[in-house]
Amino acid sequence: MNYDRILIRYGELSTKGKNRKVFIHKLKRNIKRVLRNFEKINIEADRERMFILLNGENGLEIIELLKNVFGIQSFSPAIKTDKELENMKNAALDLFKKIHQAGETFKITTKRSDKTYYLDTNEINQIFGAHLLKNIPELKVDVKKPDINLQIEIREKAVYFSCENIPGAGGLPVGSSGKGMLMLSGGIDSPVAGFLSMKRGVEIEAVHFYSPPFTSERSKQKVIDLTEKLANISGAVKLHIVPFTEIQQLIAKQVPENYSMTTTRRLMLRITDEIRRKNDGLAIITGESLGQVASQTLESMYAINDVTNTPILRPLITMDKSEIIDISRAIDTFEISNRPYEDCCTVFVPASPKTKPKKEKVQYFESYIEFEPLISKAVENTETIAIAPKAAEQDGFGDLF
Ligand code: ATP
Ligand code: MG
Repeated sequence: MNYDRILIRYGELSTKGKNRKVFIHKLKRNIKRVLRNFEKINIEADRERMFILLNGENGLEIIELLKNVFGIQSFSPAIKTDKELENMKNAALDLFKKIHQAGETFKITTKRSDKTYYLDTNEINQIFGAHLLKNIPELKVDVKKPDINLQIEIREKAVYFSCENIPGAGGLPVGSSGKGMLMLSGGIDSPVAGFLSMKRGVEIEAVHFYSPPFTSERSKQKVIDLTEKLANISGAVKLHIVPFTEIQQLIAKQVPENYSMTTTRRLMLRITDEIRRKNDGLAIITGESLGQVASQTLESMYAINDVTNTPILRPLITMDKSEIIDISRAIDTFEISNRPYEDCCTVFVPASPKTKPKKEKVQYFESYIEFEPLISKAVENTETIAIAPKAAEQDGFGDLF
């Protein structure tokens, strides 16, 4: 590699005023985790930029990994010099000679965040353009479509040269927006919803309802594997596994069949909310997409949502199934979700659930049933496991954003 460091631009981060410190701290921590196998690197952060000093580590591999870190707007392999014009000129020419191939055109783009520097951007462009033209035979300028755009960044303490801007994943660093409880089924949608919440900085704990013996160990394993995929992106994720058999059996017995799905969802939401409260979460996340199935009509959501005031994030609400599948493939959860094992809702699903349930009706049916002790019991018997990222793996989502 022709560079000794990678310069990282925060993007949206820089607009966050007072919270900036938290964001930078989380981003640094997340980058450290993703690059944990590169022992020699150093990470330096200031208010505007972060730098990864390669110290001989493989820059190309590091670049690939950085594409999967939320909170990075863009990044560039770079070299650094002091602010002595002669040193700068030598460094620029050196770098350019290594990168340039015969016949390639160039331009220079200067960014000057140090406004006190004695040369302005036009002057710098001219000085460096002339210097390169003088020293490299037959070199040509093309300001519209150059093959090489030599970028010069004049900062307060140093100057950086780079020739490439690599787009980052955008979003906010995971953990910078608080914690949400992801209702994770074994399906295609909920892992994608978790991933998209992470993109906006939400730290996730997963909650899964299972109904042994109607659902098998293998369907539980499926959820563990999905959680591990999310952990590969964000770092360790807690998974709460809630025993739900008793409640589902009671619902099947006591609630009219066409309302059993609505009540089931309300109970799942109540229990998730209780687990959220105990774990200091601020939101609940689901994989619902409007109109996809009976429980996802607006009428259903209205009747189900009635049990809590907690914000419910539904990142997929406007998406078509094909869009959701594209993302699930990119984050490598599709194959796991597609394993054929049953899920607690498919086992108990009524033949014809109401697509337009009435809130008052479901409240009325439920008023005859004492759910509270069962809710407490389910929460008490919830098994919580911490799912670590797979040691050697870092899942990429490549060019999704
Ligand atoms: P998914 O693909 O995520 O299973 P879906 O299209 O099958 O979604 P539903 O089965 O109606 O839709 O579930 C809607 C949402 O409810 C899911 O995205 C998930 O957030 C939550 N959910 C459903 N079943 C469970 C479960 N067994 N445990 C936890 N959450 C669940
Ligand atoms: Mg499902």
